[in-house]
Amino acid sequence: MPVRCPACRNIAMTPEVDSTSGLEIDTCPECGGTWFDSEELSRFLEGGTLKQAFLQVADVEPLQSVGFTLTTRARGCPRCRIRMEERMFSDVTLDICPRCQGLFFDDGELRRVLAKYEKGEGGDALVREQLDRGYGRHRGADRPILGALTSFLRRLWPPTP
Ligand SMILES: [Zn+2]
Ligand SMILES: [Zn+2]
Repeated sequence: MPVRCPACRNIAMTPEVDSTSGLEIDTCPECGGTWFDSEELSRFLEGGTLKQAFLQVADVEPLQSVGFTLTTRARGCPRCRIRMEERMFSDVTLDICPRCQGLFFDDGELRRVLAKYEKGEGGDALVREQLDRGYGRHRGADRPILGALTSFLRRLWPPTP
């Protein structure tokens, strides 16, 4: 069953298949938006023909040509049909489904998010986690160290009530 674009509603999205990994992502022929099911963003970023094609286009089009999209009405998840939540990554607003964790990027938003991420900017933890995985950076490993450090500092300087 085709995915319907969360922004255009009645438009069926076009599946784009990566010929190396078999990964399938959906793009909207009308607005240029892209839908990633949970885990698909990190798989996309790991490499393959879709990513190559995406990067080629990204090199040609200047980032400045991308405008901000203001969401005026709530968008529904094309899978779960529930209302998606808006999450920020740096200054980009994304739509994410709280149930299936699918992600919708308006045209140009993915490029903006990747550019911000590569500059070291942060944002919503769920988005960040998928980006980290896609780029092969596993931040999970240093969390226990940070936790230990935090409790050590707490013992030195107990929080004032
Ligand atoms: Zn659309
Ligand atoms: Zn969903």
